[in-house]
Amino acid sequence: MNQSNQQLRVATIGSGPAGIFASDELLRKRSGTLIDIYERLTAFGGLVRYAVAPDHPQTRRTMKLFEATLAKPGVTLKLGAEIGRDISIAELRERYDAVIVATGAEEDRKLGIAGEALANIIPSTAFCGWVNGDPDFANLDINLAVETAVVIGNGNVALDCARLLARSQEALAQTDIFRPAFEKLATRKIRRVIVLGRRGPAQNSFGAAEIAEFGTLENCAVSVSPSEFPIIGNSEDRLFQSLETLKSFAAATANPVAQIAIEFRFFARPVEIKERAGMPASLSIERTKLDGDRAVGTGEFEEIPCGLIVRAIGHRGVALPGLPLDEARGVIPNFAGRIERGLYCVGWIKRGASGLIGHNRRDAIETVASLLADF
Ligand SMILES: Cc1cc2nc3c(=O)[nH]c(=O)nc-3n(C[C@H](O)[C@H](O)[C@H](O)COP(=O)(O)OP(=O)(O)OC[C@H]3O[C@@H](n4cnc5c(N)ncnc54)[C@H](O)[C@@H]3O)c2cc1C
Repeated sequence: MNQSNQQLRVATIGSGPAGIFASDELLRKRSGTLIDIYERLTAFGGLVRYAVAPDHPQTRRTMKLFEATLAKPGVTLKLGAEIGRDISIAELRERYDAVIVATGAEEDRKLGIAGEALANIIPSTAFCGWVNGDPDFANLDINLAVETAVVIGNGNVALDCARLLARSQEALAQTDIFRPAFEKLATRKIRRVIVLGRRGPAQNSFGAAEIAEFGTLENCAVSVSPSEFPIIGNSEDRLFQSLETLKSFAAATANPVAQIAIEFRFFARPVEIKERAGMPASLSIERTKLDGDRAVGTGEFEEIPCGLIVRAIGHRGVALPGLPLDEARGVIPNFAGRIERGLYCVGWIKRGASGLIGHNRRDAIETVASLLADF
């Protein structure tokens, strides 16, 4: 029998960008394929629905693309079905010709320092899920009656958390933020938000547009300590724009009408969280310097008084029962998306938790090519 004429039956696990783009690519390359998309939550879209910041509605429009794929003939969405709990990988493999794992990177990375288990130390997954009404985090226990919040991390997720903590209630009211989160944010006492990076400004992972947006926040005074702004180490070309923006923050004069100060601090490694009444009282940091590309401690310490800490230092994939996981990287070992014949992966579970929504499209093209080469 000519295998290429055979109708394929494929199960995709996860309805985030990677799962949906892979399903779409499969239909483009081999029309007539039957695809069942299994999603553990009761709504599709993955992080696009439950993590993309509510004040970035243009990004959320990607959901329209997802809807178009889900409406294609041959595609069936199965919501509320968690693979590994409700159905095993082995069962899926019996029922389908191929299985594509697109489960993302659901666990947040930890700091691994003393005091991290205190209340009011919030992972970015939980904070971003909360503002978006992710059912896993709808009842987030967060105390906003604090003066200083520290956001640890130097990527776009850290920027999302800092911006949402600082934005005025009027600005948040223009978004589709989860209503209980909006109401809780109205009780904020926060006057200072510090964004902390282990390395220097020239090693940041901020997007140029995302950092520039801080210059437009009407109620905030944004600053960078000039002493923390030496550009040390090799700065990549892609950072030119974000460095120019940070430089302008370092040179800015204080905004007299600002209600909230946002400070970008660099060369600071968290070492301990001190407690008061079960919550953070302060974050101890060690000043760092660069050794090649790595941040190493200098032996010089500082206490930053704060009552809320948001940890935004990355995500990692979690193991699915019956599948291997590279524990260090939090990804499924694969070659161009192939785990073995009949079993594939795509998106953050394949390549690690970095990259924008669109990167998952390219990734899906590679995985689907591997799958089709096998059939
Ligand atoms: C806070 C945050 C903000 C972001 N903002 C932007 C942005 O503004 N712009 C941008 O381009 N990118 C943004 N990104 C990146 C973007 O969201 C990712 O590139 C993308 O979501 C990764 O896609 P994925 O499909 O691999 O994972 P996910 O989007 O996480 O999708 C995985 C899906 O699998 C489901 N799943 C997991 N386990 C199982 C299981 N066992 N059974 C069934 N289903 C399961 C999950 O519920 C989820 O729906 C952001 C990321 C984060 C964390």
